[in-house]
Amino acid sequence: MPPELDVLIAGAGFSGTALALALCESGLKVGLLDARGPLPPGGSTDARGLVMVPSSRRLLAHLGIWRDLVPYAAPIRHVHVSDRGHFGFTRFAADELGVPELGHVCPADRLATALESALLTTSATLHWSTRVGAVRPDDEGVSVDVAGPAGAATLRAKLLVGADGASSPVRESSGIGTTRRDYGQTAIVANLDVSRPAAATAFERFTPDGPIAILPLADRRVVTVCTVKTADAEAVRAHDDAAYLEYLQERFGNRLGRFSKLGVRGAFPLGLVRAERVVAPRTVLAGNAANAIHPNGAQGLNLGLRDVAVLAEMIADAHAAGADPGAPALLDAYAKRRRAQQRSVVLFSDSLARVFKSDFAPLVGGRNAFMLALDLLPGVKRTLGRRLMGLSRLDSRLMAGDER
Ligand SMILES: Cc1cc2nc3c(=O)[nH]c(=O)nc-3n(C[C@H](O)[C@H](O)[C@H](O)COP(=O)(O)OP(=O)(O)OC[C@H]3O[C@@H](n4cnc5c(N)ncnc54)[C@H](O)[C@@H]3O)c2cc1C
Repeated sequence: MPPELDVLIAGAGFSGTALALALCESGLKVGLLDARGPLPPGGSTDARGLVMVPSSRRLLAHLGIWRDLVPYAAPIRHVHVSDRGHFGFTRFAADELGVPELGHVCPADRLATALESALLTTSATLHWSTRVGAVRPDDEGVSVDVAGPAGAATLRAKLLVGADGASSPVRESSGIGTTRRDYGQTAIVANLDVSRPAAATAFERFTPDGPIAILPLADRRVVTVCTVKTADAEAVRAHDDAAYLEYLQERFGNRLGRFSKLGVRGAFPLGLVRAERVVAPRTVLAGNAANAIHPNGAQGLNLGLRDVAVLAEMIADAHAAGADPGAPALLDAYAKRRRAQQRSVVLFSDSLARVFKSDFAPLVGGRNAFMLALDLLPGVKRTLGRRLMGLSRLDSRLMAGDER
């Protein structure tokens, strides 16, 4: 049976939704399914603030949704990184790196709403409350068994994209193995007020239990991401609001004054899940399905959106040339184009997670010396900073413009 869809995307998280938007603008027939239902009228309850680097902002602008986020996106112009109880620290400043800002903090609920609202204006066929099952590729396309509100069905497409998150059923059905690491850490996320805000400044403080990040939102409001040992997570979550504020204050210190007005708390167990390959016959993985990493460097979604931009560009070009978007040569070329960057981002976040967790004295000395050296070597810092912001090279023409 010839495929009815050009591309079927499993997973309507940030990566899958952004990819659907990008493909629809190229006139492809796109289907998108997710085990969840559409966002409720009140929007998502995700309390996180996600750091979007300039390359991600450019993709969101290209997709026409950055303008919806501008009122809520807080610029970051300074980043302060330190190792609690040790001498090392390093700072990044936008003007030193020659950019107006290092990134923006986007409330995750606003990002989800903006992406999903835009999706509703496209021609994509949406399958909510639908779980992806077995995947059967053949010469012409791929048959995907799904179970949704109307019962079991089979969808056919020329290409299946697994954007179905860290535990990706598409990856599993396609027989793609993974490399995994459990960091034994859980991130507790909550918004709160600080009495001495630092304008447009993000803080990351490494502690033996894991990093604490404080990201600006608006005025005195900040997002806190506090990593705890998973063994302690239940006890920390059980604190009432006043006790949790005290706990956080004790771990972060008084640099931003007193903490108050705690919002809803969310907990996220942290691990690394890396797909051994990102393509299989008629199938490609994107976002967390390909690489789910520790949030310490705020790189996970930024990496996923680069996957999306490159994949959308390559599929659109194939479609314009009348070529098959699921052809093995295209998938292999995609995997090759993404390999080095995916590997280096995974290595960066995994190394941060492991090196800063250790209290082995030579490693502590080494990481502090590294931070100080970085602080004193503007050239090295500039190169690292531009790479983290996705500015060291143009990954895709979808990230080329700088409209805001
Ligand atoms: C505490 C924390 C802070 C973070 N901060 C940042 C940050 O500042 N910057 C940054 O870049 N990244 C950050 N990240 C990482 C970022 O959140 C992820 O990289 C991103 O959300 C991944 O999006 P995704 O769409 O690839 O996957 P997901 O968001 O996991 O979406 C997967 C989708 O697939 C669906 N699905 C799963 N199984 C099935 C199935 N069987 N059938 C159908 N659908 C299915 C799910 O319902 C879901 O909607 C952070 C992560 C954490 C935990």
